[in-house]
Amino acid sequence: MNSLIVQKYGGSSLADAERIKSAARRIARSREDGNQVVAVVSAMGDTTDDLISQAHTVTDNPDPRELALLLSTGEIVSCTLVTMALRALGYNAIGLSGGQAGIRTSTDYTRARIVDIDPSRILAELREDRIVVVAGFQGATEDSEVTTLGRGASDTTAVALAAALEARICEIYTDVDGIFTADPRVVPEARVLESLTYEEMLELASYGAKMHPRSIELGAMYNIPILVTSSFKDVPGTLIH
Ligand code: ASP
Ligand code: MG
Repeated sequence: MNSLIVQKYGGSSLADAERIKSAARRIARSREDGNQVVAVVSAMGDTTDDLISQAHTVTDNPDPRELALLLSTGEIVSCTLVTMALRALGYNAIGLSGGQAGIRTSTDYTRARIVDIDPSRILAELREDRIVVVAGFQGATEDSEVTTLGRGASDTTAVALAAALEARICEIYTDVDGIFTADPRVVPEARVLESLTYEEMLELASYGAKMHPRSIELGAMYNIPILVTSSFKDVPGTLIH
């Protein structure tokens, strides 16, 4: 069986140094289990919101080109820190921006769509026995312009990479235990679903992990099982398949 897995870590799972180190340990554990691991990371905590606010401190109308380049830095920070944390644990790892990872996008800077993925760089790094950490939410155009994929789109980076690399599974690590049957704050009996189909996930006004819809569509299109689970606890999570 294909041993390649793609893992995605959301912003709350990387909000500070302790959580970054804990994500690195989880990645390392998957490596120890005999997997090849590609980890996709979101920006730390509220970084993306903070960067947008920063742009607005200098202009009411940030140019989309510079805004995309600015926002891409959030994921570059978490990508490089997770990679450094993995190296500190003694693992061979490399961090790549979306463009370096071969994610080619359309040209609409802050709402770009992935048009193609050239997996050759990631595959070469995996052959060197490295863990590959990829900055989510971004790519580059044919002309090497840096683009972002829309809010919450690190999920889409992860599933798209899982498809391009023919990964066995895409694991989404988040701050809730999975996809709930109802909002647990309102419905005390709400429970975590064990599994559901892509169609059900797209239809469900889901509580718990909010997934970028495009990631579910890509999962369905390429038949990539997506496990949504907690980065803080060892829980089974929800399998979307
Ligand atoms: N950091 C980006 C955002 O907050 C992308 C993501 O989190 O998936 O929208
Ligand atoms: Mg985020």
